[in-house]
Amino acid sequence: MKAYVVGNAALDETLSIDDFPRPGASIFGASLSRDLGGKGLNQAVAMARTGLPCVFVAAVGQDARGREIADRLAREPLTPRLTQLSGVATDASTILMAAAGENAVITTREAASALSPGQAVEGLAGAAPGDLLVLQGNLSAGTTGALLREARARGMTTAMNPSPLQPYFAPLWPLVDLAFVNEGEAEALGGTGHLLAQGVQGVVLTLGAAGAALITAEGQTRVAAVPCTVRDTTGAGDCFMATALASAALRGVALDAKALTHATRAAAHTVARPGTVAAFPTEAEFADILGRAGQPS
Ligand code: ATP
Repeated sequence: MKAYVVGNAALDETLSIDDFPRPGASIFGASLSRDLGGKGLNQAVAMARTGLPCVFVAAVGQDARGREIADRLAREPLTPRLTQLSGVATDASTILMAAAGENAVITTREAASALSPGQAVEGLAGAAPGDLLVLQGNLSAGTTGALLREARARGMTTAMNPSPLQPYFAPLWPLVDLAFVNEGEAEALGGTGHLLAQGVQGVVLTLGAAGAALITAEGQTRVAAVPCTVRDTTGAGDCFMATALASAALRGVALDAKALTHATRAAAHTVARPGTVAAFPTEAEFADILGRAGQPS
């Protein structure tokens, strides 16, 4: 089984600050760091590091940031399919990281929203029945819909993380098999039951330090978070989703409690370390997480 992650690719610049500034205030930043980011890229890198074959489809501009992303991605164990668009700036995120571990993220989406339906669907070349399509909320409505319809035609399993929330998601849920949402997103979407009623087979609700729940028509399974010292929560949800999907795919089973247990372990690594992709478990750490958590308890 292979995963096709289609989404945004960005460079993250993280400013560490004592506390969030009030409007109009000028404050000092303690440090500035740079890392790969973008929800699509985050999910693709985490998934690839688990050992699941992964194709990452995204748009970048023909600029220095785009080249840096391509160079850094070449060091990851995935197959990048980057469309280099002219006249478009590669996406970037500015992350404000407060001392208490809370963050605020501002992301551009010029390149992600310019990826056309045709270019995106081309990125699914070779996808077979049972392969995974993984999406988030940074692409245009037309491109997201085209990808979901193409995935259905190919017999793929579709997984959606509706973040950032966009109004165009509403008619797409019947094309989604698995949804990953946090509490705010679940509430804004009318509740997890509303997603199930529209044909979503499994909803994973992430609950921050309280862990996560898998909700299906049969009932609910809760998994506790792994206690850790919070350094930087950026990308925790992306790492969680990628690990849960990969854990189930690598074992050839439907999403289950074990997949969520693996995901809470991987997300705890991410939360306990600074950075985005730099904080994700390495390939060796993923082997340990997936192996160790796979032992009978
Ligand atoms: P983000 O937008 O920051 O990537 P999210 O809102 O999508 O995150 P969360 O529910 O905050 O998702 O976190 C995802 C997972 O990360 C949780 O289910 C949990 O396993 C882990 N996690 C998050 N915060 C903590 C924490 N303080 N301690 C331990 N684990 C955590």
